[in-house]
Amino acid sequence: MTTIILPDYLYTPEGYLREKAVAFDDRILTIDTPERLREKYPEAPLIDTGSDSILYPGFINVHTHLEYSANRTRLEYGDFLRWLESVIRERDTLVPQADNALMEAACRQMLHCGITGFGAVSTFGTDLEVCRRVPQRVTYFNEIIGSNPATVDMLYQDFLQRLDASRSCSPEERITPAVAIHAPHSTHPAMVRRAVALAREEQLPLSAHFLESPAERQWLEEAAGDFKPFFENYLKSDRPVTTIEAFLSQFDGYPSLFVHAVQTTEEERGHLAKQGHHVAHCPRSNRLLGCGRYPLEDRRVPVALATDGLSSNWSLSLFDEMRAALMLHYRAPLQELADLLLRAVTLEAARSIRSEAGRIEAGAPADFALIRLPQPCPREEDLALQTILHTHQAERVWIAGEELPLE
Ligand SMILES: [Zn+2]
Repeated sequence: MTTIILPDYLYTPEGYLREKAVAFDDRILTIDTPERLREKYPEAPLIDTGSDSILYPGFINVHTHLEYSANRTRLEYGDFLRWLESVIRERDTLVPQADNALMEAACRQMLHCGITGFGAVSTFGTDLEVCRRVPQRVTYFNEIIGSNPATVDMLYQDFLQRLDASRSCSPEERITPAVAIHAPHSTHPAMVRRAVALAREEQLPLSAHFLESPAERQWLEEAAGDFKPFFENYLKSDRPVTTIEAFLSQFDGYPSLFVHAVQTTEEERGHLAKQGHHVAHCPRSNRLLGCGRYPLEDRRVPVALATDGLSSNWSLSLFDEMRAALMLHYRAPLQELADLLLRAVTLEAARSIRSEAGRIEAGAPADFALIRLPQPCPREEDLALQTILHTHQAERVWIAGEELPLE
């Protein structure tokens, strides 16, 4: 069934439009004046959302870890290695606590915040059932991790089994199977090679944590620093399995999503940009784990903004994340940064995971988040900023043209 929606403002890849309505079924059909759309679709009901309403494409949170949703205060923040040790210590408690009801509640909270699609990095496969059940589009990143050559084959087989399970979902479940390589220091190059080749062959979304902490960089470059005792104690290994350059070159020619990239050099970011990669920027996670600040002012690499998991954040709200990013990048011109952040949770987020969503234009999926500003906003150049400052929840949400109740 075709429906027409008329918001006060419409957010499109070309900017904010006024006096424009959208006709949609499960996809967006046309954007035009309400008069012309009424003529073209005389039977279609018209939803007039009234003053100060803005229709956005549904927001996309490209990087999260649902399996760690049970954490509130158990993990240790402030330093990456101390955090990692606390994850290893608490994992056997936290992962079982994240049962289906808890993970589903986390997805529900995202929906309330207007998030209609997310990237779930799955280490164990325990979140697949929930991802199949929730209404959102899920890019299901089956993670591959392990640096010990003796276990590589077994780990790769386990990864293939999880990937197959995510491939066998029906289209109504809106699961896109995808591949996540844990990180350069933690994944054996032989597995990286096979996983990248597989993603390339099947055109699956591909992502990897990359140069998150100063310790990771130091380990990869010098086989020294805070990671050294960690690798010696836990993995009986005294040198890194790869170099930064060798790792990065595996992805050449296949645009992928590099998560964090806080400790990248200008040259490495130049390489990311040249290869058409995206960075997933997680400012709150980076701050809490003592990783530093991603240089967002380097505009060469397109950026998607993400929350990371509740293992390194206090909410999965992209509005909270955008507000934090506004404060963290305090030297950036304010309005311009606000515009960039909204693109980073819509169009660029979608591109980074090879999705056609994240944009209001003809042919795109009809995924929407309607928000309302608390007062009229007299300057159009402030719309993005005021949206970020004042929005905590979406007022209404649609996925594939269907409105979802938000009670
Ligand atoms: Zn992560």
